[in-house]
Amino acid sequence: MATTSASSPLFTSFSLLPKRRPTHRQALKPRSSSNGPISYQEDVVVVGAGIAGLATALSLHRLGVRTLVVEQGDSLRTGGTSLTLFRNGWRVLDSIGVGEELRSKFLRIEGLVMRSEDGRELRSFSFEEEAPGQEIRAVERRILLETLSSRLPSNTILFGSGVRTLRREGAQVLLELDDGSQMLAKIIIGCDGVRSSVARWMGFAEPKYVGHCAFRGLGHYPQGQPFKTNLEYIYGRGIRAGFVPVSHTNVYWFICINLPSPGPRIDDPSALKREALELIRSWPPNLINVIKNTPDDAVIKTPLVDRWLWPGLSPPASVGKVVVAGDAWHPMTPNLGQGACCALEDSVVLAGKLAYALKEKGKGSSVEAALRSYGQERWARVFPLTIRAHLVGSLLQWEHPLVCRFRNNVLIPSTIVNRASSLDVSSLGRKHGSAFVYLFCAGGMLPSVVFVHPQNHREGCEAEPS
Ligand SMILES: Cc1cc2nc3c(=O)[nH]c(=O)nc-3n(C[C@H](O)[C@H](O)[C@H](O)COP(=O)(O)OP(=O)(O)OC[C@H]3O[C@@H](n4cnc5c(N)ncnc54)[C@H](O)[C@@H]3O)c2cc1C
Repeated sequence: MATTSASSPLFTSFSLLPKRRPTHRQALKPRSSSNGPISYQEDVVVVGAGIAGLATALSLHRLGVRTLVVEQGDSLRTGGTSLTLFRNGWRVLDSIGVGEELRSKFLRIEGLVMRSEDGRELRSFSFEEEAPGQEIRAVERRILLETLSSRLPSNTILFGSGVRTLRREGAQVLLELDDGSQMLAKIIIGCDGVRSSVARWMGFAEPKYVGHCAFRGLGHYPQGQPFKTNLEYIYGRGIRAGFVPVSHTNVYWFICINLPSPGPRIDDPSALKREALELIRSWPPNLINVIKNTPDDAVIKTPLVDRWLWPGLSPPASVGKVVVAGDAWHPMTPNLGQGACCALEDSVVLAGKLAYALKEKGKGSSVEAALRSYGQERWARVFPLTIRAHLVGSLLQWEHPLVCRFRNNVLIPSTIVNRASSLDVSSLGRKHGSAFVYLFCAGGMLPSVVFVHPQNHREGCEAEPS
């Protein structure tokens, strides 16, 4: 167990070798602070058992650093249906030892078909021909989370432990949990999602609603789903939709629609499903079929938000030994399908730097410096991505009929896909920062594809700067 006695000096008890955690939290010896009883004392606490939290805990575990993950829910989150992971996400999953297990459960997507809302095909291609090496699979969030957590030592996750507030207590930080208990920790990794209490404590502004909401669901075909392994995108005016096979029985779908405000929260999933069907009632029958085959309780609606990490205005990713990762740090719209992929990237970069600092602390390495270095390295990646995802969303949600006609009849058919096989999709947009680069994506619920003007369609060729 990574607990320390009240008198132990900082970091003396970071375990780089497996030790046993007590079987339940009450096994810890209570001690008290000036503010009341402290129920737990930990070295490294990860707040949130989502993708970022579990991947970070697993990366650290593989590097010999044990963590306690505190999760507000009573179990792993099962909602959120599916998400699409690109090659950069798969590389991380491989590096933490779960890639092959997950690959065996989810279909590889082979092609892309884009349509207008009347079903007319605007463009289609196979990834093997147009973007060789890219790996795209839609994965069920529940299975992703279960797979990550299954590789952690037992009792790593403390469920039903929402973090309400944080407070400095000397060189450590005191976490106050929803049940009134308190936890003293030396290092805190905030992976608590878009409404992160850790980020709020660090001074981050609340994420902003971007004007679109996403309906998502998981169609279920017990006898086997009938679709090809393609992404199907359908573009309307101020609304777009799509679907993609996840497995032999499940098909993920989404609708993204402009709404001036997210409106009241609807908890009745059957009402959500009716609303979704109403939005696309004259759209291609395959989409309607997938939504109709979705169990009521597998439909969710999410207002899309983001937060731009302006240099000098936004706080850094770490303050002392408190650091944020994933959506807690850089909530981005799903238009590039990179939120979870970036959360995964964060986890391995953060874990690598932190584990190294802990191992080398006798040689002058500092945890604070490691966390700062993580923040600087990752900021350069996530800040531009957040902005690009936002801009892509604005373009794809066009409402004006003339602009939509131009998009459907000129822009989509005349563009070609970049062949640079050694790059992941998200880095292509950065590499080809030209006016000729168009990022079309299915709303992030489905992955993005980078289109480059024909003049730049040469192997290894950079687009001309505009
Ligand atoms: C519509 C939509 C579609 C998307 N599609 C894609 C896609 O195709 N590809 C992709 O890569 N990304 C996609 N994303 C983004 C992706 O879902 C997120 O980036 C990813 O879930 C971030 O993971 P996280 O672990 O940072 O946060 P979360 O998944 O939100 O996990 C946070 C965890 O922290 C817990 N928690 C919260 N507060 C507390 C607290 N106070 N105390 C303790 N625990 C707490 C929560 O219960 C949760 O378990 C999509 C997002 C949306 C909204």
